[in-house]
Amino acid sequence: MAAVLRFVNRGVFRSAMGQQYLTFSSTAKAKGAGGRTGKPLPEVVKIVEVGPRDGLQNEKTIVSTETKIHLINMLSESGLPVIEATSFVSPKWVPQMADQVEVMKGICKKPGVSYPVLTPNLRGFQAAVKAGASEVAIFGAASELFSKKNINCSVDESLQRFDEVMKAAKEAGVPVRGYVSCVLGCPYEGKVAPAKVAHVAKRLYSMGCYEISLGDTIGVGTPGSMAEMLEAVSREVPVSALAVHCHDTYGQALANIFVALQMGVRVVDSSVAGLGGCPYAQGASGNVATEDVIYMLHGLGIQTGVDLSKLIDAGAFICRTLNRKTNSKVAQATCKL
Ligand SMILES: [Zn+2]
Repeated sequence: MAAVLRFVNRGVFRSAMGQQYLTFSSTAKAKGAGGRTGKPLPEVVKIVEVGPRDGLQNEKTIVSTETKIHLINMLSESGLPVIEATSFVSPKWVPQMADQVEVMKGICKKPGVSYPVLTPNLRGFQAAVKAGASEVAIFGAASELFSKKNINCSVDESLQRFDEVMKAAKEAGVPVRGYVSCVLGCPYEGKVAPAKVAHVAKRLYSMGCYEISLGDTIGVGTPGSMAEMLEAVSREVPVSALAVHCHDTYGQALANIFVALQMGVRVVDSSVAGLGGCPYAQGASGNVATEDVIYMLHGLGIQTGVDLSKLIDAGAFICRTLNRKTNSKVAQATCKL
């Protein structure tokens, strides 16, 4: 483990990673590289599996309710502690999630496993609780233009809309997770200022979200921009309340996650078989594959509680159903597909 840290500290990647990495190394020098990258890696990391929601929502094929239930049950059996099950949005906007009630009622809820669902408004929240959800998630963008173009309001206005959800959740004793999207880049705005991400993360945290997931929605981040952003956010929100959510469009997700671990992040979002995509960026791939994250973490001696071979089986199942190739390098290497 120490050897790996030294490898990064020495900046062996510098020439290969160009400009972005130089930003990282100059920041590291200013702050004292040992203080940040010298932190011991965690012993345990919590994986939040987002394949059934974030993944399937962005797949072209609409899968049957039965398949979704079977996938979630297989994921539960693999030992994952958190599985985002579905989204209580209007089927008009997201037809892939129209069967949210049937999915919530159909899955076998394993004791100790959490099944959060996305709730865009009070109506969605109430429907989710009625369907048996015991944890929900809300979201805001770090980019003004993204927010304006997608929901026609400013970032702050969009967060105000969640006030009633937060109030209802508090009364019902339902924990709320907060997502920030576009933390390392926006399809309309380009670069997003780390201070803006910190502002939105802080808002969500002070509204009562117990965990803030920082999403590189279009997968353009590098270890350099990730370090810079996390440094800004962790000045406003305790790092123990942060999660990272990386898409792998430019093949940087694992490196970005590794940097986040070095900076004290203990929660990682990922998607089995790397399901999904991003409607806003051409050629964008889905979330980083859970199989690949687990393989890396176990290789670092970090516990996850996940049985990799059962997870690979779950990935193979959904890829067969979608008639697509897995995006997990680990699954490809083990020749399950
Ligand atoms: Zn995502």
